[in-house]
Amino acid sequence: MTPSRWPAGLETSVHALKGGHTFVARTPDGRLTYHGVGSDDATAEQAAWASYHLANDPGHEHDFDPGQRQDGFGQCRGCSMSDTQAFEQRRTIDHGRYALAHPWPAGWHVQGGASGLVIRRSGGTYTTAFVEVAPTDPQTFIRGEGATLVEAEQAAWEQAQRTLACPGHEFETRGYTNGAGFCRHCNMFASGAFDVAVVGNPCVTCGARTNWTRVAGAWYCQDHAPDRAERARLRAEAPDDGAGDSPLRELLEAMLVDDDD
Ligand SMILES: [Zn+2]
Ligand SMILES: [Zn+2]
Ligand SMILES: [Zn+2]
Repeated sequence: MTPSRWPAGLETSVHALKGGHTFVARTPDGRLTYHGVGSDDATAEQAAWASYHLANDPGHEHDFDPGQRQDGFGQCRGCSMSDTQAFEQRRTIDHGRYALAHPWPAGWHVQGGASGLVIRRSGGTYTTAFVEVAPTDPQTFIRGEGATLVEAEQAAWEQAQRTLACPGHEFETRGYTNGAGFCRHCNMFASGAFDVAVVGNPCVTCGARTNWTRVAGAWYCQDHAPDRAERARLRAEAPDDGAGDSPLRELLEAMLVDDDD
């Protein structure tokens, strides 16, 4: 068994490790690897040669095992050849720990996690796996939840398919006063579906519909928004001390979800 038997294109190396000698033959691009393990260099090379021979037998069909990896790598259960492109590489989320099952369009941003905290509008919290998708066409935001990332992605995928198949969106506010709306047919979310001048909250000074600012529980349009000193005075006079419109409270409100969805 001489190294000259190896095709000129393969790069070979031999490593003596504690557990035995390993012979590796690899394509220059690093994609395919044949390796053999033995008690000395010669037997290791013999094993690698057998792997190469079997892998390139016209009658052999690879049976790739990805192991714990999700980056496309696979090792053949039959000939032990490994291929860094054995599987179609799938997009991953959750720091590479979850490979998406569905073919989301490349331009759509997808993110998610195995455990996210959700605050209910009525109080209380729960944790859930979630997948969030920002499609580019149509411009919307989709969030799927489930016991696992698989379920969460499935929920998001089904919502995306409903939206893409919708015969024509018809939006309703569902109580939102910031212009956001949901399609009554496909449930698609759209920011800016409504004019805030129509669906906004009445300014306490002039009555114009607005979503400009809220101070101590009351809404003000841009023209009548209190200045810094006035805000402080209004908050000090408010029965609840004005804590209701602190930046933290506003952030939490924006994150709230209704219980019935
Ligand atoms: Zn094989
Ligand atoms: Zn729709
Ligand atoms: Zn006003």
